[in-house]
This record gives sequence, structure tokens and C-alpha cells, in this order.
Amino acid sequence: MRRDLFDEEHDLFRETVREFLAREVVPHHAQWEKDGIVPREVWKKAGELGMFGFSVPEEYGGSGISDFRYNTVIVEEIIRVGATGLGFGLHNDIMAPYLVDLTNDEQKQRWLPGFASGELITAIGMTEPGAGSDLQGIRTTAVREGDHYVVNGQKTFITNGINSDLVVVVVKTDPSAGARGTSLLMLERGMEGFTRGRNLEKVGMHAQDTAELFFQNVRVPVANLLGDEEGQGFFQLMNNLPQERLSIAVAAVAAAETVLEETIAYCRDRTAFGRNLGKFQNTRFLLAELATEVEIARHYVDKCVRALNAGELTAVDAAKAKWWTTELQNRVVDRCVQLHGGYGYMLEYPVAKAWLDSRVQTIYGGTTEIMKEIIGRSFRF
Ligand SMILES: Cc1cc2nc3c(=O)[nH]c(=O)nc-3n(C[C@H](O)[C@H](O)[C@H](O)COP(=O)(O)OP(=O)(O)OC[C@H]3O[C@@H](n4cnc5c(N)ncnc54)[C@H](O)[C@@H]3O)c2cc1C
Repeated sequence: MRRDLFDEEHDLFRETVREFLAREVVPHHAQWEKDGIVPREVWKKAGELGMFGFSVPEEYGGSGISDFRYNTVIVEEIIRVGATGLGFGLHNDIMAPYLVDLTNDEQKQRWLPGFASGELITAIGMTEPGAGSDLQGIRTTAVREGDHYVVNGQKTFITNGINSDLVVVVVKTDPSAGARGTSLLMLERGMEGFTRGRNLEKVGMHAQDTAELFFQNVRVPVANLLGDEEGQGFFQLMNNLPQERLSIAVAAVAAAETVLEETIAYCRDRTAFGRNLGKFQNTRFLLAELATEVEIARHYVDKCVRALNAGELTAVDAAKAKWWTTELQNRVVDRCVQLHGGYGYMLEYPVAKAWLDSRVQTIYGGTTEIMKEIIGRSFRF
């Protein structure tokens, strides 16, 4: 079915992104996978092209356009070429609402120009070694001392963890107050006592820096608190998580589509028993099933993008999109590996890399089980 999500300006933007990736990313990505990180220069080059901060007001160097279809184009194009090392989705789709919607004018002036130019790379630190799904169980504390908070604790699995200059850190400002005792503090590169741990070795997405962060008596100005008052952190997170989950769903569908296309082409070329793989009924039925599910997923996700733009995307809508599409992505990629036979297990084939890169999708941004909890709770049993 014809896809009707985009207008002409999005198509033009897609060409720009595609050309940028072909020139600045694709030739280098294999090396970045070996390095475990992408160079900061590529962020700056992407910033020069206007790939960051659409929603950032023009006076701070952005485009002032709140249209998630641009974010969608970037995520789709990155996934299409397998450039999973670029943490642009996190910066654009996940961090922008914190920086644009939750900051005051003084904070906007300090951070938004760098955010839009790609010179200030962002990250979010929620997860800790002892608490991921159970966000209320975090132990990082921020104790007020005059004009500063003193922050102690640690975070783990942080995307852009090594490259980031500005990190939204989830802290307990009042450990006895439950959800109301949680706040969001901006920690900046160079603050004394703020250090990075290991760039963690992962199953896939090898070019993406995923790191540990440590905070030892870090003195953070009260001016770096997000929002007007302490204790809003949990609600601020809950507000922004649907957009994060939608971004992951967009990536999931794009990855499933890409791997499916590659596999159909492979099944045309590869022969066994004197005919190509597509001549086996099993191949055709399997591809038919996967193509049907992917297309249905695509239309639901596109509808979610429109709902987000209209300010109508609910936490339940986003949870449905996230768990369904990421589980589907994993199923599609796994079946496509099977259709490639032994070549599917060879890293020189994109399907093998897609298999490694896809596994985390059902885990980060809220696991499949947590998504089902969110949906199930909405029935108010
Ligand atoms: C590559 C990568 C990048 C990441 N990037 C970031 C980042 O940038 N910032 C950040 O803050 N975090 C990040 N994370 C962390 C990620 O969000 C967490 O790993 C995820 O939320 C799960 O938390 P956990 O690992 O502590 O697992 P746990 O919460 O310990 O869960 C373990 C298992 O128990 C299940 N479970 C837990 N609670 C329930 C329940 N109530 N009902 C049913 N089942 C349950 C889970 O679904 C899961 O299967 C990243 C993780 C990875 C792997």
C-alpha cells in the first residue's frame, strides 16, 4: 500500500541524509565498529547539514519545526545502511524534548546552540547496575548544599556514554519520597568527580559507545536542574518515554524492511537443487508472512508518528508500537538469517550484522515485558 506519511520536503530531506550517510558514514562504519565509537567530527558534519534539533527554536540555531517525520527520515536512513553506531536517534528523538521543553531561557542559551550544531553531544542516564526496569529503585543521590547539588552514584549502559558532553542524570533528591523524590539534573563534561568507566563490549552495535558513568561528590549548580522545582523527574521521564519508544519502533520497522528486501534479493540469486530459493514454497510462504506483518507494523507506526505530531500519542500506543515492532524485527531477522543458510552467519553479509544489532531492541527503552505491563495496566482490572 502507498505510504502517505511524508510530504515533498521530507523526501528532499531524505535525499540529503542519504547522500550524507553515503559520503561521511558508510565508508567508515566498519572501522568505527572496530574502534567501538564514532568520531565527534561526524556529529559536527551532520549538525552543519541541519540534522539535529529540528524542534530547537531558530534563535538558538535550530529549525523551530516540531515534526517527528524529519526524525523518522533520519532514523530510517541510518538503519537502511546499518549505521547503528550513530547515536543520532538518542540525541534527536530522545534528548530534544528534555532540552527544548524542560529548560528555562538561561539553560536554552547555554545548551541549545551546541545541541543543534552537533558540538554538544547528549546522553541520558537512567539505568544503574541495580535498577533498570524498576526506575524508582535508583540509588544515585543529589543532596542540596546552597547553590549546588552534591551528586553521588553511578549509571550503566549509557548510549553516547563516552562521547557525551551533557547528560540528563536521574537522581534522588529525596530518597524517602518515592516517585516525588526523583529529579533530573544536567551533568556536564569536565565537572570534578564526574568520570566515565568502560566503553562496554556489546553483542552488536559495536560502533556505538555504551558506557558506565560515575559520580563522586560532583558539585552540580542548582541552575542545572530541569524544571521549576525538585521532585518532577519521574513525571518528566514518563512524559518523554513515548517518543523514545516510538523512535525505537521506527528503527525496528526500517530494519525489518531492509533485511527483508535483502533476503528477497538473495533468494532470487541463490540456487539449490537446480532452482533459486524462491521457487521453494516454504521460502515464498515465509517471506509472504514476514512481508505482511512488516507492512502492517509500518502502518501502525506511521499512525503513531502522526499522533505524536498532533500531541495525541499515549503511553499505551507507544508501548504497543515498541514491543510489537521490536519482537517482529527480531523474528524477521532471525528467519532471514535462516534463509541465507551458512552465509547468514557470516559477518560480511548485512543480515548477520542485523541479527547482532537487533537483539537489544526488545530490551532498551523499556523491555517487552514492561511494555506489556503498561498496556495491561490500562485495562484497570
Ligand atoms: C545497548 C544498550 C543501550 C542502553 N542505553 C541506555 C541509555 O542510554 N540510558 C539508560 O538510562 N539506559 C540505557 N540502557 C539500559 C536499558 O534501558 C535497560 O537495560 C532496560 O531498561 C532493562 O533494565 P535492566 O537491564 O536493569 O533489566 P531488569 O530490569 O533487571 O530486567 C531483567 C528482566 O526482568 C524483566 N522484568 C523486570 N521487571 C519486570 C516486571 N515488573 N514484570 C515482568 N518482567 C519484568 C525484564 O523485562 C527483563 O526481561 C541501555 C541498554 C543497552 C543494552
